[in-house]
Amino acid sequence: GVVVPESNCDVLIVGAGPAGMMMAAWMARCGINARIIDKRGTKIFNGQADGLQCRSLEIFDSFGFADRAWKESNHMLEMCMWNPGLDGVIRRSDRLPDTIPGISRFTQIVLHQGRIERFFLDHLKKYSKIEVERGVLPESLEIDTSKVEDNFAYPITVKLRHLTDEEATPEQSKASKVEDGLFRSNLAADDTDDLIRKSRGKEGTAEIVRAKYMVGCDGAHSWTRRQLGFEMEGEATDYIWGVLDIIPITDFPDIRMRCAIHSAESGSMMVIPRENKLVRLYIQLTEITPDATGRADRSKITPETILKAAQKIISPYKISYEYCDWWTAYQIGQRVGTQFDAHTRVFLAGDAVHTHSPKAGQGMNVSMQDAYNLGWKIGLVVKGIVQRSVLKTYQSERRRVAQDLIEFDHRFSRLFSGRPAKDVMDESGVSMAEFKEAFVKGNMFASGLSVDYGASMLVAKQGSSAEQGDGTDVSTAHNSLTGKQVVGKQELSTNIKLGMRMPSFKVLNQSDARPWHLQELLKSDSRFRIILFAGNVTSATQKTRIKNFCVKLDAQGSFLRRFTPASCPIDSVIEILTLHSAKRCDVEILRDFPELLHPFDKQVGWDYNKIYVDDESYHEGDNHAYENYGVDKERGCVVVLRPDQYVGYIGDFEDVEDLETYFDGVLVKATKS
Ligand code: FAD
Repeated sequence: GVVVPESNCDVLIVGAGPAGMMMAAWMARCGINARIIDKRGTKIFNGQADGLQCRSLEIFDSFGFADRAWKESNHMLEMCMWNPGLDGVIRRSDRLPDTIPGISRFTQIVLHQGRIERFFLDHLKKYSKIEVERGVLPESLEIDTSKVEDNFAYPITVKLRHLTDEEATPEQSKASKVEDGLFRSNLAADDTDDLIRKSRGKEGTAEIVRAKYMVGCDGAHSWTRRQLGFEMEGEATDYIWGVLDIIPITDFPDIRMRCAIHSAESGSMMVIPRENKLVRLYIQLTEITPDATGRADRSKITPETILKAAQKIISPYKISYEYCDWWTAYQIGQRVGTQFDAHTRVFLAGDAVHTHSPKAGQGMNVSMQDAYNLGWKIGLVVKGIVQRSVLKTYQSERRRVAQDLIEFDHRFSRLFSGRPAKDVMDESGVSMAEFKEAFVKGNMFASGLSVDYGASMLVAKQGSSAEQGDGTDVSTAHNSLTGKQVVGKQELSTNIKLGMRMPSFKVLNQSDARPWHLQELLKSDSRFRIILFAGNVTSATQKTRIKNFCVKLDAQGSFLRRFTPASCPIDSVIEILTLHSAKRCDVEILRDFPELLHPFDKQVGWDYNKIYVDDESYHEGDNHAYENYGVDKERGCVVVLRPDQYVGYIGDFEDVEDLETYFDGVLVKATKS
């Protein structure tokens, strides 16, 4: 018979959509031996998901490619609401800022998924040898449960199939000449089992991979999820959405604004202005309903039927097109997976564990952010830097976000899809005031910035694992040897919230006076960070406090030394960044700061990129960072950020023992090398 080749890899990623690509990006940055496979023969070229939240852009920036998305995308500044007046004719009732002003240095933008996948592919090329292997899919999965707690074992065995080009490229719908997304849509039956069956028995198409970890980013039909036997919980009703990407010819005045249009009797629609003169229309297709098997007849859906529905909603205004870029229809239920991992060895991320409607543009964002939460954890566990138990926080942190998302979507769906109320007596109608209020409230959620992770070994705050709401056992921050617990002092930095992402304000580099947004310094390079708010470093008392802090961290056997491999620079596991509040011109780096805060290297001298000041800049004003962060300008504080920029711990200079306890609960003591 044929010899089936066998090999090992540390992390196997199944699916190269937004979630899989984000996972691969972390693997590249952590330097992990990873593989990423996708059953499809090509990447996406146009269409599909498009909205990018502020938080997704912040994450892209931490990898170094937000600028590409920012330049190419359409920026969304205003949201307009259109509802029927007393005469039943639609009119603009409200204008709102699309992104809540001041919450991020980015606003929401739209750019199609194909471009976003391109940025990730380029990133992988720059930082690693990882390439997406297309036309490859898994055929079987086994987990050796006797080995799951062994850090050096490869407990996962997966048999992979390599498809021919033909098999990996399914035919497009014949209903129209324009490229459509129907074949990727869940209105098409999933073809995974078919593909496996057809290629079975062909010579030279199989291989066996043994992996330490596996992540199923294989979308709503997730094969990985099915192998694990995990269920999705949630709403039984499935909405069907039509999507049309066109260059519109119209007299509708707000066609370059994001709009929610509620017609009196013909349903509702979202207008999303996009790059290259395109506009996307999202329309709930109320006339097409799923049959007894739960699937809708997709042959009834064409660009023409979607356009007709749009024309009715937008009347008396006219809309048509000469150019259609892409179109699709898809069916969505609102569901969350009951379990996000098996034995903290095989994980699910993205649509594989949650599905919901496209209205708030969350799909791609939440999916990428799942992988952003998980990637560094797996990467650092494989490298032996963080403890394996950290992987439990993936489910406790992300399942809650998925549940919040479904709840939000549920509320918003009802308000979006309902017929507008004629007056206060019209009880079956939806109040447009309520819709507006829900939108305004939902906008914070939709920015991705309201995510607030609960207490765990990674987040030293008050609260128990019971509050995670799903019974996951994630112990609070504690020393794994002594069991001592630690709770950070939230009152020391009132606007840097334990469990939330680090907000950003402008600060100046002490050495060259250049302004930076603080977040720009927080690269996704898998390091933890201590932000030392050094306070007024010209005061003698404060100088002593800083010195004492640094002496403790620099001492032989200190946690910083214990957790950094002896052969590596002192900032390779935990980087210390300093932000002081004295006048820039009254301070000298070499005179006023201990060496630990600007380490010396024999080859390249002092590090000038570690010390920053909250002071006025020459060209960009004064951002008052201390005030905005809610930190005392005289005394400062110590803030710990996880590699994903979420706040893990806050304390005083004198609380080094707590700081040590925090890291004791997370990191693995480096073996002498
Ligand atoms: P996906 O993007 O679905 O990626 C999964 C990947 O896994 C695919 O590349 C697939 O080929 C691969 N795969 C699947 N099974 C296997 C297997 N067995 N083996 C190997 N590979 C496999 N969201 C929005 O926010 N706005 C939109 O306009 C929008 N439009 C959409 C249109 C369509 C047609 C679809 C299907 C979804 C749309 N969504 C939209 C949802 C959004 O695309 C998803 O939420 C997002 O892509 C989820 O990312 P993901 O990586 O989890 O999954």
